[in-house]
Amino acid sequence: MKMISLLGSTGSIGVNALDVVRRNPDRFAVAAMTAGSNVELFAQQVKEFKPSLISVFNSSKLEELKELLKGEDVEILTGEEGTVNVATHSDISLVVSAIVGSAGLAPSMAAIKSGKDLAIANKETLVVAGELVLREAKRKVNIIPIDSEHSAILQALNGEKEERIKKIILTGSGGPFRTFTKEKMENVTVKEALNHPNWSMGAKITIDSATMMNKGLEWIEAKWLFGLDTCIEIIVHPQSIIHSMIEFVDTSIMAQLGMPDMRVPIAYALTYPDRIECDFPSLDLAEMKQLTFEEPDYEKFPCIKLAQEALETGQTMPAVLNAANEVAVQAFLDEAIPFKDIAETIRTTMHNHKCHAIDSLEDVQIADQWAREEAKKRITVAH
Ligand code: NDP
Ligand code: MG
Repeated sequence: MKMISLLGSTGSIGVNALDVVRRNPDRFAVAAMTAGSNVELFAQQVKEFKPSLISVFNSSKLEELKELLKGEDVEILTGEEGTVNVATHSDISLVVSAIVGSAGLAPSMAAIKSGKDLAIANKETLVVAGELVLREAKRKVNIIPIDSEHSAILQALNGEKEERIKKIILTGSGGPFRTFTKEKMENVTVKEALNHPNWSMGAKITIDSATMMNKGLEWIEAKWLFGLDTCIEIIVHPQSIIHSMIEFVDTSIMAQLGMPDMRVPIAYALTYPDRIECDFPSLDLAEMKQLTFEEPDYEKFPCIKLAQEALETGQTMPAVLNAANEVAVQAFLDEAIPFKDIAETIRTTMHNHKCHAIDSLEDVQIADQWAREEAKKRITVAH
């Protein structure tokens, strides 16, 4: 029985992870879990999965949660300290990190420091502090990606040596605006941006897919997971069936295919390097008929290059890119800025940033905070 701690149980990945656990009660148990604010769903999950320790990040929701869980045998904490306690619970061996944004960094680092393996959906953690996270992990724990592209790369790599990789071919759907002209994209609404063609996900990553920042963040994520020197090519594949590929030095390409269903990479991360039988819907290639590919349009989707530049600059720049993106995406969701200003906000914030080296979690947090304030200033000035 694998004892798991689930950070972000009420989100899209969290709910899918719980479904994998629900289908395999003899293999997995959730000993501890966290949520942000959604205490109604959280309380239902706690009653079903019976963890011994839980935490709600938003402390103003603590009393409501306690009321909902009256009579349940569970310890209830709150705040970042509560999330960290859940991530380091002594009964567990694996932490599933499914919090959104750089808020996932501190608990992920705490989990690694206390020797827990980390199944990571929260790509922002690797974007903002990839070097720190990997340095810490190298000593003692495994980091297993949940992101479907990175899970695909891990599966395609299966036993091969990383130095045999010629390039990683990172696929992306192109999002809801793939076929829009640049002019048409200027006036897209929040509703249109939230309408992803293939995946049902949380709001932040859905907007990241619409700007294609998601592919930029994943490019950085792949660099940290599979080697900074590895060549990574991005290719648009609108059907989201090939989740990514590796071309090896002999030009042979290994791809991983499947339905767009996050439970598949979640189950793989929970059982890696093993697999378990799952009765999820199978891929019907004859029904699919065709798989197509095209070059990404870097002009229409400037966020990809911004992410690549941030990693090339290094130091605090990826943390600044990420924080400015989080602020800009939220402002777009709040209808405070138009879609095209997401990239502009990030670009200006990066431009105004004076980079410094990262030696600790605190260095990342300072850059993150600076970028949030800077991005907010720009948003207020421009609107
Ligand atoms: P959601 O917005 O659906 O869920 C986010 C989760 O984090 C919720 O449980 C939320 O709690 C919690 N949360 C939010 N803010 C905080 C905070 N400050 N402290 C603690 N907990 C917090 O996001 P997704 O599930 O879509 O994405 C999660 C991560 O996984 C992201 O990094 C995303 O990029 C990545 N990912 C997601 C995929 C998907 O299919 N959804 C695919 C690949 C990667 P509450 O709702 O209770 O407030
Ligand atoms: Mg992905």
